[in-house]
Parts: sequence; structure tokens; C-alpha cells
Amino acid sequence: MIEVSDLVVRYGAAVALDGVSLTVAAGELVALIGPNGAGKSTLVKTLSRILRPHSGTVTVHGRLAQVPEGRQLFGDLTVDDNLRLGGWRIRNRDTAPIYEVMPALVPLRHRRAGLLSGGEQQMVAVGRALMRRPDVLVVDELSLGLAPLVIADLVGYLRSLHAERGLAVLLIEQNARLALDLCSRAYVLEAGRIVAQGPSAELAESAAVATAYLGAGS
Ligand code: ATP
Repeated sequence: MIEVSDLVVRYGAAVALDGVSLTVAAGELVALIGPNGAGKSTLVKTLSRILRPHSGTVTVHGRLAQVPEGRQLFGDLTVDDNLRLGGWRIRNRDTAPIYEVMPALVPLRHRRAGLLSGGEQQMVAVGRALMRRPDVLVVDELSLGLAPLVIADLVGYLRSLHAERGLAVLLIEQNARLALDLCSRAYVLEAGRIVAQGPSAELAESAAVATAYLGAGS
């Protein structure tokens, strides 16, 4: 679904991504973890063609939809209207399947999105992305600012979308524990370079990843 090869992205003279290669196969759950400033948002923006590579290639097969960092909903519009905006490009106005996937949104459908809790807003952001009927979903910081129980609900939704519809997901997260738990494979991005990659279980056991990202030994 996603093939990134030897990608270099610069802001002027500053190199934000320096030779990044990664893949997400159809139906795969893949995590990209890394600290602040590693280049995660830069990669998301390059995947969605907001930024142009200096060199290297980005290929997306099928339809990609994004859950942006900070949700970016229209606060004055209702939940249902926000969902519909997600589908406008493919003329999809049918929000019913989204409420089936996330029944917790049903009682909120006529509420203004700006009045919802952070977790509810994140659900709407996921639903809005699903309105594009994507083959692959890129989620930028699913868990940011959310309580553990809310995160567990959202992860449950992603798991069932993956299991039932074969949706591929690239989960970009600072919360490494969550990302390694949800995804079978992961990449570690530091200062614009992939410094580790492999099955999540193996990465979680590597001393470097455990110390830097999982709080081991602290
Ligand atoms: P965070 O988790 O804090 O959002 P990130 O991993 O998403 O961080 P990026 O936002 O991609 O990191 O930033 C990567 C590097 O590029 C950082 O050094 C950042 O300061 C720099 N950078 C990001 N946006 C710009 C910009 N518009 N102009 C110049 N430098 C930028």
C-alpha cells in the first residue's frame, strides 16, 4: 500500500528526513515511533503530498486517508457534518457505516464537534478518514492527550477495522508501548533516520528501544 524509498525531505538547508525507506503491505498494521522532532509529521505530510521530497520516492497504492495530528475538526459543525466532509471528495454522504463501526458516536451525531471530549473528537477524526473508504489509514498521534481507557476504545476500533475489512494502518506514535502493542511491525525514527525496524515483539525486547521508549530500567 505504501512504499517509501530512500526519502530525503528538507526544510531549506535543514534535513528533516534523511534516506528513509519503509513499507506498509495490504492489510498490515505498522507503527512508526520516535521522539519529538524525529521527522514523523514530515513523513505524514510527504505521504499526503503536502511536502515534496528532495529525493527518493513515495508510492501509494490504493486510497490513503489520514487522521491528522490534533484532529483538526470543524468545531462549529456537527459530528455528522464533519463526517460527511471526509467523504466529499468521493461523493460519499453515507455516514451510517461509521456509526456501525463506532456506536459511541450515535448519540453525539447532532452535537457540535467543538463541544466533544478529546477522545470523542479523535473518534470523529477516525470516522471522517474512514468516509474516504481508504485502503490504508495513516494515523498521526492517535493517543496524544487522551486517557488510557479512551485510547483502548480507539485501538479496539482500529483492530476491528483491520480484522473485518483488512484495512492497512500506519500508526505514527510517541506512545511506543501502545504502537508496539497494536502493530505487528514497527520502525523507529530518530533525527530523520530509521534506526531500528522489525517485528514489534523483537523491538520491544531490544535493549536500546526498551530503554529509550518503554521506560525500562527507570
Ligand atoms: P513531533 O512529535 O514533535 O511532532 P515530529 O517527529 O513530527 O515531531 P517533525 O515535525 O517532522 O518532527 O520535524 C522534523 C524536523 O524538521 C525538526 O527538527 C523540526 O524542527 C523541523 N521542521 C519541521 N517543520 C519545519 C518547517 N516548516 N521549517 C523548518 N523546519 C521544520
